[in-house]
Amino acid sequence: MRTVDNEHYFCGMKCFLRKKIGDRVINGHPWIFANELGDSEGTAEPGDIVELYSYNGTFVGKGYINPASQIRIRLLTRDKKEEINDDFFLKRIQEAWEYRKQIGYVENCRLIFGEADLLPALIIDKFNDYLVIQTLALGIDKWKPAIVAALQKVFSPKGIYERNDVPVRSLEGMEQIKGFLSEPFDTNIILNENGLKFHVDIANGQKTGYFLDQQDNRRAIQHIVKGADVLEAFCYTGTFSLHAAHYGAKSVLGLDISESAVAIARRNAELNNYDSVCKFDAANAFDALKQWAKEGRRYDTVILDPPAFTKSRENIQKAITGYKEINLRGMKLVKPGGFLVTASCTNLVPPELFLQIIGMAAKDARRTLRQVTWQTQASDHPIMWNIPTTQYLKFLIVQVM
Ligand code: SAH
Repeated sequence: MRTVDNEHYFCGMKCFLRKKIGDRVINGHPWIFANELGDSEGTAEPGDIVELYSYNGTFVGKGYINPASQIRIRLLTRDKKEEINDDFFLKRIQEAWEYRKQIGYVENCRLIFGEADLLPALIIDKFNDYLVIQTLALGIDKWKPAIVAALQKVFSPKGIYERNDVPVRSLEGMEQIKGFLSEPFDTNIILNENGLKFHVDIANGQKTGYFLDQQDNRRAIQHIVKGADVLEAFCYTGTFSLHAAHYGAKSVLGLDISESAVAIARRNAELNNYDSVCKFDAANAFDALKQWAKEGRRYDTVILDPPAFTKSRENIQKAITGYKEINLRGMKLVKPGGFLVTASCTNLVPPELFLQIIGMAAKDARRTLRQVTWQTQASDHPIMWNIPTTQYLKFLIVQVM
């Protein structure tokens, strides 16, 4: 017989965990999967706040529910007294902002990194005076007006834009949309990073328009590109390429399959007066690198920051093959004693596996590696030790002997 500790009145739905589930939830993970839930009392609309209890009736937390999603409940708080209302979102956003300021990410930062800021499925990037938001689950999407009001209050930004044109929303039964959440503004903005300027297309760029997670890693190449001939594949808007020029590279060639990304990369080179050093071409990196290795082209430094290759655990082999193949091709283009800068942005490939893949590529290329730098995403994308998927970016620099 279960006794629910009921000193407060809650008119919504109460959900109970099954008796035998792992200790992930108890250890702080905010996701409850459909197969972890047992009984329930009361009813709720999709996206509503519900209370979660353990099998024997101990309060676990409050979160939002979506019967259409495999992740049935995402917890927002474990404090029974904390009400989920507009003030709750204001407080969480203020806390996240204080944390960013404390660790030194102010002008541009990932202001809210979902679960790591105790706001599951919410992403907010701050590009100086502009904010770009993604609400990737129904239960957080419902609070968009409160979130926007909180952002207005804390930042008085020049503009807020919604980039909810992402396929994961379909897992929650939501449509893909994008548009203004403030007065309309010019969505082509410029941001400063490490002493360089970058054009960002908030409305049409990839994800939120700019990859802030690599901002510290871009600085990490400074000592290995001086006087170098550099090749960057998967360059997007040329961010690593421009950094290479800034740190003294002799020549830089950036490749991306997206014509629009390459167009912005060229404009970024002009904006920073590096258009004589940095050239960009639209090309499939797999084909170009293979061809050039055959032709005997060689570079002092090769930079690779490919896309995820897979979005699902079932296709993990596809990602492994992709990473191995591109790194093998990249390594073959590095002069003996030159450097390979390589990254992987999917949490489906954990750090140890990524290193193994690079090791396999080196073996096939008959090269030995000397590790220079091994790090992860910038700290404005915090890693929660009880939520392993929050560590997703791998960034490695090796000397290729
Ligand atoms: N390094 C960049 C982010 C790269 S994202 C930054 O820090 O800003 C990955 C990029 O790979 C995207 O711009 C995408 O257009 C590009 N891409 C995907 N497949 C490709 C391929 N086969 N060849 C070249 N580029 C590709």
